[in-house]
Amino acid sequence: MDKVMIITGGSRGIGAATARLAATAGYKVCVSYRLDRQSADAIVDEINRSGGLATAMQADVAVETDIVRLFEEVDNRLGPVTALVNNAGILETQMRVDDMNAERLARVFAVNVTGSFICAREAVRRMSTKHGGKGGVIINLSSIAARLGAPNEYVDYAAAKGAIDTFTIGLAKEVAGEGIRVNAVRPGLIDTDIHASGGEPNRIERLKHTIPMQRGGLAEEVARAILWLASEDASYSTGTFVDVSGGR
Ligand code: NAP
Repeated sequence: MDKVMIITGGSRGIGAATARLAATAGYKVCVSYRLDRQSADAIVDEINRSGGLATAMQADVAVETDIVRLFEEVDNRLGPVTALVNNAGILETQMRVDDMNAERLARVFAVNVTGSFICAREAVRRMSTKHGGKGGVIINLSSIAARLGAPNEYVDYAAAKGAIDTFTIGLAKEVAGEGIRVNAVRPGLIDTDIHASGGEPNRIERLKHTIPMQRGGLAEEVARAILWLASEDASYSTGTFVDVSGGR
């Protein structure tokens, strides 16, 4: 069976590193993105030039019809999805809870939580033996913020990742008898653009003394955990977590 991986938010950071590694592992890769088409095309070109097969598709995971279209396009262009990486995620500017408004919370939960649910729904409809599928894997991107709470920075984001942890456990149990494994990785402070989007590009530099390993992580280090969970090497693991956080 062809291995087909959809990586939401595959244009940059952890998603892009996962796309590169997945192509090396023999997956046909769909790199989805929201706005940054140039970065998505660059990753796809790199993979295709090195003998892999990848395609870029625009889809905002906060928009249900975009997700439905994304999965249908993947069916047509690459074949049925066998691995979903729910990677697209956002932060908003650092602030305390007593300064947050409902619009901000709606944006944070729409992308980080609802988007992951709807993508998983589309994947389960294709993978589940109950629906005539041949099984598959789902890997959710949580965060160690789910354990630490991100006080004074983004408690909303941390709470959204807490929801992803519970979602991972519940969905894993729901579809464990239908050929689907569902797991999550919890990255710590990883060197990507996400910290700049929270208003502090040098956040890792400020916080690295709090990390037992005394350094931030690389996107590739998270990607390796994702690919392990997707692989048959993790065949008896479901509803569980791999922390990639330098001991934090
Ligand atoms: P990043 O460098 O900021 O990249 C985010 C990616 O998500 C981009 O490809 C972006 O697409 C995409 N995206 C954002 N909103 C989207 C939407 N509405 N629909 C579709 N795609 C969307 O982030 P990252 O650091 O690689 O983070 C990846 C995941 O790991 C996230 O879930 C994040 O919460 C989690 N994580 C990261 C860290 C860390 O320290 N970096 C730590 C813990 C957890 P465009 O390029 O089109 O904007």
